[in-house]
Amino acid sequence: MEEHKRAQLLHKDRQYVWHPFTQMKDYENQDHLLIEKAEGIHLYGADGRTYMDTVSSWWVNVHGHGHPRIKQAIQEQMERMDHVMFSGLTHEPAIVLAEKLVERTPEGLTRVFYSDNGSTAVEVALKMSYQYWQHQGHKTKHKFIYLQGSYHGDTLGAVSVGGVDLYHAIFKPLLFSAYQAPSPAISGMEQSLEAIEDLMKRHQSEIAGIVIEPLIQAAGGMHIYGADFLTRLRALCNTYEIHLIADEVATGFGRTGKMFACEYAGMTPDLICLSKGLTAGVMPLSATLCTEEIYQSFYDDYETLKTFFHGHSFTGNPLACAVGIESLNIFEDDNLLGHVQEVSAYMQQQFRRFADLEHVDHIRGLGMVAALNLVKDKDRQEAYDPVKRAGYQIYKQGLEEGLILRPLGDTIYYWLPLCTTKEQVDTIIARTSSVIEKVTAKL
Ligand code: PMP
Repeated sequence: MEEHKRAQLLHKDRQYVWHPFTQMKDYENQDHLLIEKAEGIHLYGADGRTYMDTVSSWWVNVHGHGHPRIKQAIQEQMERMDHVMFSGLTHEPAIVLAEKLVERTPEGLTRVFYSDNGSTAVEVALKMSYQYWQHQGHKTKHKFIYLQGSYHGDTLGAVSVGGVDLYHAIFKPLLFSAYQAPSPAISGMEQSLEAIEDLMKRHQSEIAGIVIEPLIQAAGGMHIYGADFLTRLRALCNTYEIHLIADEVATGFGRTGKMFACEYAGMTPDLICLSKGLTAGVMPLSATLCTEEIYQSFYDDYETLKTFFHGHSFTGNPLACAVGIESLNIFEDDNLLGHVQEVSAYMQQQFRRFADLEHVDHIRGLGMVAALNLVKDKDRQEAYDPVKRAGYQIYKQGLEEGLILRPLGDTIYYWLPLCTTKEQVDTIIARTSSVIEKVTAKL
């Protein structure tokens, strides 16, 4: 892009645009990275430089950018129909995708409710769970349990079950009250399950459901825990008759090495929330799937109050559904999970080598996700002074080396597109190593 056009756009960006999760003052004396093209796992800057996207564009991208089959699916759908409302009307892409989702998600989830982003998928699950109990005559079941360090989105219902103070604390006066339980990844599995059971026992008549991110608590800091927790949580939910809501918005669609993280425990939640990878990260769409029992409680000839009064203008967008279908076809045709198994094993092995670096601690990973913490002193478990903004320095140095890294605090992580190759892993690892060494030397 011509330099004067780039400068002009960035000037207008500063003048008109408010970016999410961003202290805009940081951009008084620096530019946002202006991207003009994306292909595969590469983003092309208007500055003429190429960047490897190690975070899959906020954890959404699956097959790389600009996949020819995805492009074709959108184009063909666009020729037929762009968007129509989804109440009273229906269409083939939404129907076909729903059937595929029921087939592909854990057995026992039979009905698909569409919305248009991850937060709304969670909102829908919370409201469905609550309303189900109302229908069953359990009028006092209106509370939810969530885990410390959890993140389920930025709308108020999702924030009410969010456990990250940095994002959530300021909004507390606006939220409904919910019970926080210790995280299996942060406090340990036994302590977490004990506290959850205690809450369920003491407040059974009040609690509608527990909402969790299966295996990876992502935005809270890439905290990873074992599948046993899911198995035992399922048992507790059965015992105390409480819904298990699995938020697989981030972990779904192969990122952990299986199609859904719940599969590691062979576990079926009562509700599952999907988005991000649902459309290979190309279109906004989400789906909340529930069991037949939940669905049937809303099914009634006469009582309009059993209707689920929830819907968004762009619910079930046909273009997005067409992409979702094609993405699932690519999973099958390319044996993508086989590729993920091979590349992720290699990536995890290479990633562990960062343990040798002086300021790297707590290496962990699953599937195409890997994370480490930067620490000032490993032996003394001493963190860097937050004013040093170690993560932000990593982000900036990453750009210098042609990498998009978006640390969460001092946690550096990968959330790689599923199509990433071993050769690309090598390049990403080498560049990350250089970034970490340069930044920690300066800190
Ligand atoms: N749930 C989880 C587990 C997430 O990671 C996210 C987004 N990072 C959301 C929900 C919210 O999704 P969205 O940003 O599409 O609203």
